[in-house]
Amino acid sequence: MRTQVAIIGAGPAGLLLSHLLAGAGVVSVVLEARSRGYVESRIRAGILEDSTVRLLESAGLGDRLKAEGDPHRGIYLNWPGERHHLDFVDLVGRNVWIYGQTEVQKDLGRARDADGQEIHYEVADVRLNACESDRPYVTFTDRDGRPQRLDADAVAGCDGSFGPSRAAIPDSAKRTWSRTYPHSWLGILADVPPSTDELIYAWHPDGFALHSMRSATVSRLYLQVPNGTDLSDWPDRRIWDALATRLGHGDGWTLNPGPITDRSVLPMRSLVTAPMRHGRLFLAGDSAHIVPPTGAKGLNLAVADVALLAPALTALVKDRNPGPADDYSDTALRRVWRCTHFSWWMTTMLHTGGDEFDAQLQLSQLRWVAGSTAGATGLAENYAGLPIGFGAERAGRARAQFGARGRQ
Ligand SMILES: Cc1cc2nc3c(=O)[nH]c(=O)nc-3n(C[C@H](O)[C@H](O)[C@H](O)COP(=O)(O)OP(=O)(O)OC[C@H]3O[C@@H](n4cnc5c(N)ncnc54)[C@H](O)[C@@H]3O)c2cc1C
Repeated sequence: MRTQVAIIGAGPAGLLLSHLLAGAGVVSVVLEARSRGYVESRIRAGILEDSTVRLLESAGLGDRLKAEGDPHRGIYLNWPGERHHLDFVDLVGRNVWIYGQTEVQKDLGRARDADGQEIHYEVADVRLNACESDRPYVTFTDRDGRPQRLDADAVAGCDGSFGPSRAAIPDSAKRTWSRTYPHSWLGILADVPPSTDELIYAWHPDGFALHSMRSATVSRLYLQVPNGTDLSDWPDRRIWDALATRLGHGDGWTLNPGPITDRSVLPMRSLVTAPMRHGRLFLAGDSAHIVPPTGAKGLNLAVADVALLAPALTALVKDRNPGPADDYSDTALRRVWRCTHFSWWMTTMLHTGGDEFDAQLQLSQLRWVAGSTAGATGLAENYAGLPIGFGAERAGRARAQFGARGRQ
């Protein structure tokens, strides 16, 4: 088989990349280890930044999102005895949308069907070869057990944190930074209308809790739990009691419990790999970086990477212009590190570890964020999402100024 861009992974990054490339007249083939049904039903992220929504709309993927998604102006910050609303629209003129990753995935799948996109689901043994040359190729075993070879002009590694793409960059050519947090999230999906109009992020001595939602009838809630937590230790009653305690703010507000339809324990870590390019291999999304979900950034970062990568690959394989591909990693990493810091900041501000001094610092920080326009604006700007390509223009200007001064 031969194509222009071989895409590994049919998650949001891989399918969006194939969609944007097709729009620019570039042909791709997508290889995915799981079945389509599995990929479309994975319960994961649910908050879309303003720039993500705009990009999906501009790519013709916004109709159902706008009809069924739920725009939110901001969030609540909560700690015992207090609840404060941060209005992102008032603070930075941008809002976020509640729309499940499952729905984004289905919209992408339908759009790719309409275009006749070649996607091989349930492949195995994916291996990346000759990525340092101009003729990379990927070998794999197809669903029927036949060995296959896919030749391409470029390979896009969109295969998440456990796929083969990141590992295909030799250790001598990359650097990885990581942080494993001492806590996990116990997440539930429940068939009950949300007990709040907007998300509640709650600090509590027992641990963090988050009240999120997926629709008018489905709630998504999380509890901070220790790493290694066994779900069997958390019967429904214990989950709802802990959520009610941590989310309550002593003002008559009550949490409505309901039937739990999905539950899981999600370990939390940060990881960044650089560069995001090695020869003709380009990483995008979770294959290059992981963030803890506290800042709601994982899916949005994947979309932001792809928004840069699609034009860069188009220039490379269609126009034979390597410039944007050469800039891709540096440009993407500026936003990646900003979101990595924001996710770490939200995590360390809201998760308790039993240290009384730390707890007082966290409460002081929360009071500042909720009470000061400067503090609230910083959170709002990062949460509602920085522009795609954030920092690149400023870096370009700084380079130009430095160069001009150097020449004087
Ligand atoms: C359990 C969980 C819960 C999450 N919750 C949140 C949340 O609440 N909020 C938030 O913002 N983010 C959340 N995230 C993060 C968010 O879902 C990811 O950042 C997002 O899915 C990244 O998209 P991606 O396309 O880069 O990677 P993925 O969605 O991981 O897609 C990668 C694809 O590559 C495929 N693949 C892997 N290995 C191979 C292989 N060898 N060959 C072929 N294909 C392969 C995978 O099957 C997958 O379909 C969560 C992630 C997880 C794992």
